[in-house]
Amino acid sequence: MIELKNIYKTYHSGKSNEFTALKDATLTIEDGEMVAVIGKSGAGKSTLMHILGCIDDFDKGEYFLNGEDISKVSEKRRAVIRNKEVGIVLQDFALVESYSVAENVMLPLYFSKHTGNRKAREQKAMEILKQMEMERMADKKVNKLSGGQKQRVAIARAMINEPSVLLADEPTGALDVKTSKEIMGIFKELNEKGTTVIIITHDMEVAKECGRVIEISDGCIL
Ligand code: ADP
Ligand code: MG
Repeated sequence: MIELKNIYKTYHSGKSNEFTALKDATLTIEDGEMVAVIGKSGAGKSTLMHILGCIDDFDKGEYFLNGEDISKVSEKRRAVIRNKEVGIVLQDFALVESYSVAENVMLPLYFSKHTGNRKAREQKAMEILKQMEMERMADKKVNKLSGGQKQRVAIARAMINEPSVLLADEPTGALDVKTSKEIMGIFKELNEKGTTVIIITHDMEVAKECGRVIEISDGCIL
């Protein structure tokens, strides 16, 4: 499913502020796993996630996603992979605050082909919102929601194209203990239904809920 071989990532290459954020990262994650990635602030967790999610590239090494060699695919194909094969929940939700819940969830559908008319898109959004127990909030503006509700919307948006892998960067970082548990319950449920889930966290309670913990320190996978 996911295979990273000897990946290096350097920011500001060749400049005085050059910084290597990932060093020789090698990692295999099987279909259907639920994995936590832990490490201190600045260890390289988000860098790793951006590479896994094909939203950033790397300098050296190999990355195979579902058998496809990511370093060799076209920019167009990468865009399709980002839209269809991986679902990404970013650290700050990255929702459009002035849009409604349903509009946010439908956004990825506008960037993918063959998603049908507006009615079909709305139906799909309502189905996924139902799974998140958010269907009654569909018409609410995102800026009216609590942190936990926003996180549910972000997960719904990440899942709408039924990706095989769901990546989440510190998804409980801004939430209280009770809400964190609810959100972890959603990730577990999605994992049980077959989605591979990768959660970046520095909360050991969250890591304990995952089937495997990968630790990263100073850009190295331990
Ligand atoms: P983590 O998510 O574990 O806190 P990051 O992957 O965000 O760590 O960052 C790892 C290191 O790379 C940090 O020292 C950070 O300052 C640096 N870094 C991250 N993104 C960039 C960037 N876009 N440009 C320059 N340096 C970066
Ligand atoms: Mg980070």
